[in-house]
Amino acid sequence: MPVTRETAEQWIRAYAAAIAEHEQALTQLDMAIGDGDHGANMQRGFQAVLSRLGSVAEGDLGALFKLVGMTLLSTVGGTSGPLYGTLFLQMALKTQGKHELAPEELEAALRAGLEGIIARGKAAPGDKTMIDALKPAQEALRQALNQKSSLAEALRRAEEAARTGRDATIALVARKGRASYLGERSAGHQDPGATSAHLLMECAARTWM
Ligand code: ADP
Ligand code: MG
Ligand code: MG
Repeated sequence: MPVTRETAEQWIRAYAAAIAEHEQALTQLDMAIGDGDHGANMQRGFQAVLSRLGSVAEGDLGALFKLVGMTLLSTVGGTSGPLYGTLFLQMALKTQGKHELAPEELEAALRAGLEGIIARGKAAPGDKTMIDALKPAQEALRQALNQKSSLAEALRRAEEAARTGRDATIALVARKGRASYLGERSAGHQDPGATSAHLLMECAARTWM
């Protein structure tokens, strides 16, 4: 399936549904190493996105991603809102005026979003954050597309890489965000943001399979 405004909106709607489904699980993870609000933060943000999507049916891909990013920035308190907001605003800049994306353009947009998160949050791979799921996913996506895989296959590999990265956060000691206040005691727990980031990639793989 091509990456159009319509299918990208399906991706966002699928993610909002996944967040609603996993709200409690995300909160549980954040209770162990944070302040127990990651599920609620994401749920608030994506319910607001859903309600605004209802009123804006038209527009290019850039307009869609801008709406998502601005909504997350303005409705989600906490660290994850501005970071996911940045992801979507950077994707918006890359997709302004476009009604359809080639697979490589989707990867470039995702890469710009990831770089935006890194610029804003200053986390590196291994710091036990959403970066640990997103960066391997972007790299797997790029590598698969370089090898001439279909978008569906490339996103499948990206989802797998995000899952592996998410699982690897369990063993890590947090060096960014609230979990870093726990120091060594943060090890042994899966990072909530890496978990929501994996869900984002899972929804992408399901949307464009
Ligand atoms: P808060 O920590 O403000 O309560 P959330 O609970 O919604 O916000 O989000 C926590 C998640 O944000 C963490 O699990 C981690 O993945 C992510 N995070 C925290 N700090 C950073 C950072 N500097 N860079 C990237 N991700 C981060
Ligand atoms: Mg929190
Ligand atoms: Mg909080």
